[in-house]
Amino acid sequence: MARCDALARHSELAGKLTRVYLSQEQRAVNDLVLGWMRAAGMQARLDAAGNVVGRYEGARPGLPCLMLGSHLDTVRDAGRYDGMLGVVCALECVQALHDAGRRLPFAVEVVGFADEEGVRFGATLLGSRAIAGTFDLQLLEARDRDGVSLREAMKTFGLDPDAVGSAARRREDLHAYAELHIEQGPVLEAEDLAVGVVTAINGFSRLAVTLRGTAGHAGTVPMGLRRDALAAAAECVLAIERVGRSDPALVATVGRFDASPGAINVIAGEVRLTVDCRSSSDAARERAVAAILDAAASVAKSRRMGLQIERLQDSPVTGCAPWLIEQFERAVTAEGLPLRRLPSGAGHDGMAMRAIADIAMLFLRCKGGVSHNPAESIAEADAGAGARVLQRFIESFQPAARKP
Ligand SMILES: [Zn+2]
Repeated sequence: MARCDALARHSELAGKLTRVYLSQEQRAVNDLVLGWMRAAGMQARLDAAGNVVGRYEGARPGLPCLMLGSHLDTVRDAGRYDGMLGVVCALECVQALHDAGRRLPFAVEVVGFADEEGVRFGATLLGSRAIAGTFDLQLLEARDRDGVSLREAMKTFGLDPDAVGSAARRREDLHAYAELHIEQGPVLEAEDLAVGVVTAINGFSRLAVTLRGTAGHAGTVPMGLRRDALAAAAECVLAIERVGRSDPALVATVGRFDASPGAINVIAGEVRLTVDCRSSSDAARERAVAAILDAAASVAKSRRMGLQIERLQDSPVTGCAPWLIEQFERAVTAEGLPLRRLPSGAGHDGMAMRAIADIAMLFLRCKGGVSHNPAESIAEADAGAGARVLQRFIESFQPAARKP
């Protein structure tokens, strides 16, 4: 908990935690974590994408590793545990190995990913994508809100943008990737559980829907002669909510709604709304998106609206590996805690890491299910329970039989 507090002191804004990719604050936490890693007996370095990487050798040098980690960047006005807790708990586990003078039949690596949230450049998972070897070099041209490109920001930070590919790790370097993270949802708290084992990171689809009617005078156009885009959009929002409620494996959200021209005495001529639909089942998500498209088309038809739908982004489910889920569950049971499996509704670095390794995640209860908010809070006892489960998982880890 003290280490999470120490990391939270490095923020762009006094009194509010904000730490974005390639910032001065990131440099400060990198230095702090590199120091902790070295004190825990690890070789520690900054990689070509700005990730902090620590390595604790196994019984002999150069063995493949169990990679643990999470991210050190934050959203704006963030909590202090989302991301950082996973790095700190992994570090504590290695510290315990080091203090006991213990070596395992594999290496343990701890990574503090430099960018997961994607706040600065609008693209998420930049740190883990670099390690997974899926970093798209076109992203170097992305610009932050001050017009600084990712390429320029890397140079200012002291990194060589053209060398970012060298951060990539090989599949044969890793036995698996495992991450402890706060749940960011209310399920564990509602069931009075400290930890849960993640089955999969849900897939998502994002849409932008634009409805076009006719703007007009709010006093002179009779109700029967209107083409009110806002009333049509309201029907769409409720239809999207119904789709989200139609299956427990689904959530569907309209998070943004822009009506124009946007005046008290003008009928709305155009509304743009966004849809975020997630599920632990790709098939259920595809059915939901189809139902949303149908609903929007039928509202547009009955209300004589122009309709335009952009499919912004689709990401399939990232499954956690059953053999790793079982090993996490053995660790949970050994710690005397009840078992609970749950999917992750939020995205995580494992989505990128899946390209080179089987992945697993352990979720920790957080107060009120709140995250991405300064009110984010965890109980010290839960942090202890999570760290002990992670430690058991590491110490009894059995690598899967390797396929040729
Ligand atoms: Zn996170």
